[in-house]
Amino acid sequence: TVVKIYRGRFAPSPTGPLHFGSLVSALASYLDAKKRQGSWIIRIEDVDGTRCKPSFSKQIIETLHSYQLISDEPIRVQSQHSDIYEQHLFELKKRQAAFPCNCTRQSLTQYNGNHPLECQSSISKPHSWRLKASSAVYQCQDNIQGTLLFADDLKSNCPVLKRKDGFFSYQLAVVVDDHLQDISHLVRGADLIETTAQQLHLYDLFGWTPPKICHIPLITNHFGDKISKQNHAKAIENGHLETLLRALHYLKIDLIRPSSIAEAISLAIEAWDPSKLKEIKNLPLEEQDLHLI
Ligand code: GLU
Repeated sequence: TVVKIYRGRFAPSPTGPLHFGSLVSALASYLDAKKRQGSWIIRIEDVDGTRCKPSFSKQIIETLHSYQLISDEPIRVQSQHSDIYEQHLFELKKRQAAFPCNCTRQSLTQYNGNHPLECQSSISKPHSWRLKASSAVYQCQDNIQGTLLFADDLKSNCPVLKRKDGFFSYQLAVVVDDHLQDISHLVRGADLIETTAQQLHLYDLFGWTPPKICHIPLITNHFGDKISKQNHAKAIENGHLETLLRALHYLKIDLIRPSSIAEAISLAIEAWDPSKLKEIKNLPLEEQDLHLI
């Protein structure tokens, strides 16, 4: 067997500044890559032109830099690569794996999530492209979450590949780019587990080998909800050693008084042990960190 060189990535969607939860995810992917002498790259996932802003990309990259999280290669920006996603959508159409659809959320509810035949025949009207349902079953050996079995995930859920307004979906772009950038390992938040089956299915359809995937536990607020831009997570300060130490604490790394961010990062690489995150459902934010969300 060929041993792949470790290539990891952090792929934020610039819909807001970096918040505490995304700093923890960025760190996990970085530490895992560096612990294994791999490369780590940043990719800006701004395919959703209605929600993403270049000013947020700039801000996110600056914040990552201020914590010494620096991409080993030029940063890929997805909105500049629509032609590549179009080519790959074309491949899926040729393989009869994609269908045009003009259902609205409302009509899908009315049909219990099924697509009435007429939705697929009205190509003349504005329509999206969706991935066809499948009975394929996938399994993923996640080093943190254990074996993830996806048995029914693809049966009735037909994810959008390209939206009616012309924007490509995260699902298509993430798979195409992880493949084209030769990413060998994904380390990301457990909220993305629900996207994994669709992504494995796309790898399968394209005939590509998927990367190794693992999911770190989610940081939640005191209501048990993921802290996210949707629930108004606050931007974190740039280059703040205390914030970095708090973020590392959630990754089960407790450092004793490092003098700088650079020192904290190099000690954290040594200390990183993802097996410490096993069997943890989620990580509730501690009292002293509440001001960070
Ligand atoms: N761009 C996605 C997000 O910010 C993450 C992609 C991934 O890690 O697979 O939620």
